[in-house]
Amino acid sequence: MNDPYSPSVAQRIRDLPRAGIRIIFDEAQKYPDAIHLEIGQPDFPTPAPICDAAAAAMRAGETRYTPNPGTLALRADIAQAVHRDHQVTITPDEIVVTTGGMGALATGIEAILNPGDEILLPDPGWPNYAMQVICAGGTPTYYDLDARQGYQPDPAQIAQRITPRTRAILVNSPSNPTGGILTHPIVEEILALAEKHNLLIISDEVYDRIVFDNTFTSFLRAENRDRVIYINSFSKTYAMTGWRIGYLIAPRAIASEVAKLQEVYCACACSVSQAAARAALRLPQSQVKEMVQRYDTRRTVLTSILTAGGVPHFQPRGTFFLMADISGTRLDSQDFALQLLHEQKVAVAPGQTFGRNARQNIRLAFAVRDDLLATAGQRLVEFIAKHTH
Ligand code: PLP
Repeated sequence: MNDPYSPSVAQRIRDLPRAGIRIIFDEAQKYPDAIHLEIGQPDFPTPAPICDAAAAAMRAGETRYTPNPGTLALRADIAQAVHRDHQVTITPDEIVVTTGGMGALATGIEAILNPGDEILLPDPGWPNYAMQVICAGGTPTYYDLDARQGYQPDPAQIAQRITPRTRAILVNSPSNPTGGILTHPIVEEILALAEKHNLLIISDEVYDRIVFDNTFTSFLRAENRDRVIYINSFSKTYAMTGWRIGYLIAPRAIASEVAKLQEVYCACACSVSQAAARAALRLPQSQVKEMVQRYDTRRTVLTSILTAGGVPHFQPRGTFFLMADISGTRLDSQDFALQLLHEQKVAVAPGQTFGRNARQNIRLAFAVRDDLLATAGQRLVEFIAKHTH
């Protein structure tokens, strides 16, 4: 298909932006010794007991289709883990196991949208949300997040941006890319807004275990969960990004439609990954804490270098992402990222890929070894000093 404007390609798919992070990642392939802070995935290997459980499942013949919403065994285990972590009782028919958090988000969004319906998304926010809304035939609209307000949304502004077409408010706490965590009062206010305007809340909590203080509030704890579509994943907590396994928790009426959509795209999440996920839930929680401890150390490594170098940044409260302010350089964030790569062999994510509000930021993923992170931080400080006028 040589003609890029071929009418046989759907307009909305053609209009999907190419992820800015991928542009940098592809360019970075020219530099084998580049330090990669652009891609957001744990650098730890998947813990051995998870791999062992997968191997055992394969040998035991767990290699066939499972029910659309996932095996009952895994859904029961998820319900138990949710009770352990949030003291909330849910049943397996409120759970759909999906191909990663992405699968949960895409099918969850598709299940609730009629053509032209709107979903309010965070700006800055993870770019895949808008792509998923567009693919589902909906329209993304936005509410602002600002580093000066600790990346907390303003509920009054969200209220102003609700239209008769708005179906849902999407929230992501802890947030990629900001590292911010919604405060408890803000969570309450968003729940109240949804109630008042008859909206759903899609709560992406895939980073819920990577938090550095105890301020995280899950939307699962809402008194009334009838409006909450909860998204989680094994990818980040258990270093399982390649296993493609996540899940959604929603009221039965929505969960059953999302389960139907699994049949459209994949029939079910990978059977072997489902067995592996059960082992992940049985891991001693101290192992997860150890990983978080290491991210916390890296957070300190990076923030102390940036602070010493005079680079303004937001102190992440969770995730392994940090937003640095590059406004002093007057470089467009994409140009900044490309020049930094060419001059200093450090790959970062350009802020503009996360929305208008991040055009003067870059996102750094502190999911690499401490020594590499320190080197990258120093090079970044040097680069910013050289380009600041
Ligand atoms: N939500 C956010 C905010 C993410 O950053 C990611 C992955 O980067 C996901 C969801 C989905 O992750 P996965 O599909 O690997 O579970």
